[in-house]
Amino acid sequence: MCGIVGIVGKSNVNTQLYDALTMLQHRGQDAAGIVTCHEGRLAQVKANGLVRDVFRTSHMLRLIGNMGIGHVRYPTAGSSGPALAQPFYVNSPYGIALAHNGNLTNAAEVSEHVFRADLRHINTDSDSEVLINVLAHELHRLNKLTPTADDFFSAVEALHDRVKGGYAVVALIANYGVVAFRDPHGIRPLVYGKRTTEKGDEYMVASESVALDTLGFTLLGDVAPGEAIYINMHGQLHRRQCAKAPSLRPCIFEHVYFARPDSIMDGVSVYKARLRQGEKLADKILRENPDHDIDVVVPIPDSSRVAGQALAQTLGVKFREGLVKNRYIGRTFIMPGQQQRRKSVRQKLNTIELEFKGKNVLLVDDSIVRGTTCQQIIQMAREAGANKVYFASAAPAVAFPNVYGIDMPSARELIAHGRSTEEICQEIGADWLVYQELEDLIAASSEGNPEVAEFDCSVFTGEYVTGDVDDAYLARLEAARNDAAKAGDVKNAMDGDSVIGLHNDMHELG
Ligand code: AMP
Repeated sequence: MCGIVGIVGKSNVNTQLYDALTMLQHRGQDAAGIVTCHEGRLAQVKANGLVRDVFRTSHMLRLIGNMGIGHVRYPTAGSSGPALAQPFYVNSPYGIALAHNGNLTNAAEVSEHVFRADLRHINTDSDSEVLINVLAHELHRLNKLTPTADDFFSAVEALHDRVKGGYAVVALIANYGVVAFRDPHGIRPLVYGKRTTEKGDEYMVASESVALDTLGFTLLGDVAPGEAIYINMHGQLHRRQCAKAPSLRPCIFEHVYFARPDSIMDGVSVYKARLRQGEKLADKILRENPDHDIDVVVPIPDSSRVAGQALAQTLGVKFREGLVKNRYIGRTFIMPGQQQRRKSVRQKLNTIELEFKGKNVLLVDDSIVRGTTCQQIIQMAREAGANKVYFASAAPAVAFPNVYGIDMPSARELIAHGRSTEEICQEIGADWLVYQELEDLIAASSEGNPEVAEFDCSVFTGEYVTGDVDDAYLARLEAARNDAAKAGDVKNAMDGDSVIGLHNDMHELG
């Protein structure tokens, strides 16, 4: 998963892009980058690391200009490395920088076509590099020295015809402005907003509305599925639907785990959706186990807190923070190798023994993916003296890989793949396990905005809305994502080293 932002302002946007990226940091901690445009020149800084570590004051002084884009990266295809940091840049036509959140499902064939038919070179394994080259090629074909909004929209239209998958994109066109668009199903989120200053209107697009809030932009809405918006350098906004058959299917996992709770996505408050997840899960527990003996509900911090609180309240039992998180340790999920992952769960979470001793505890997490985290925590709860340890997942069983930009393990690494709830319960060592029903999860989100009737729920159902995900694709994904592949992934790191060697990590373009 990644976070993207674009701003067209009336003064330097560098610090605002930086602030916006820190608000989107939860969407990716692998790498960060900013490109700005001043008098036709693009300036770029990107490198591996957190936003606060990548950008120095000297960088900010060079990132001048009233418009720019930014990116935080979370590795998707089982690979990391400096060469994959975004935004990407191509010099022709006009000078384009592009940042992308999502994953193209036909990247391999488009990449081949880009090389053989468009005569363009792709230097990394990144599908974002494929995207920028497709956009550049489609703009080039229009053969316009001074493109208009309609030209940018025509290029996005042609791009939608060529690529498949989940993608939310911001592109900075030197001397023109920022173009932003979302795939025809709106799988990945993208919002935009406005701020009025003495000098005129300023616009911002971002993966999540929280980035707008902090910078004082008013949320105008979501970029519609298949729609493109173009904000020119003078601050005028243009919009056009660029897909032939758009239909909104936003990724429901954003509401479960990824997005910040204070974000509004497709009109749905993520916080309220998580509250409803908790209420609905409690209803299921009461239905299935009306005489339950749960003494206390303990959330697994952080993303299950909201659902956990609502669940406890609906059940009418105590809610206690029995697990304390060390916030200075990174997410355990992205570490290669089970051994390392197991160790870091214990480093990350510690139990408050008194909250467990002699009690029947219901642990709540937002989801169970590999099962490593919950297995460890259930063990920790027992060591802390819990009488019984029950487990509740605010999402249904994650049984299929994600192909639209969320870093999920391969199918066989998912604990729910091919296992029944009873088998999973046994595997994780719980006394009882309850999963959210899919229809309840969907209702928890759509009650926030009844206009969004359908969501991308592929990790729960194995149904992929783009219609192109077959067994062969999933087998390739399996090979790319399993732990062995991750441990051996040096290609992009080496590519990155050579790119760094050539251009340096502080690379000013133009
Ligand atoms: P596990 O079952 O051990 O894989 O861990 C599940 C935990 O990982 C849940 O608590 C989620 O909060 C978190 N999680 C779910 N999906 C992801 C993801 N794609 N990246 C990182 N963490 C995730």
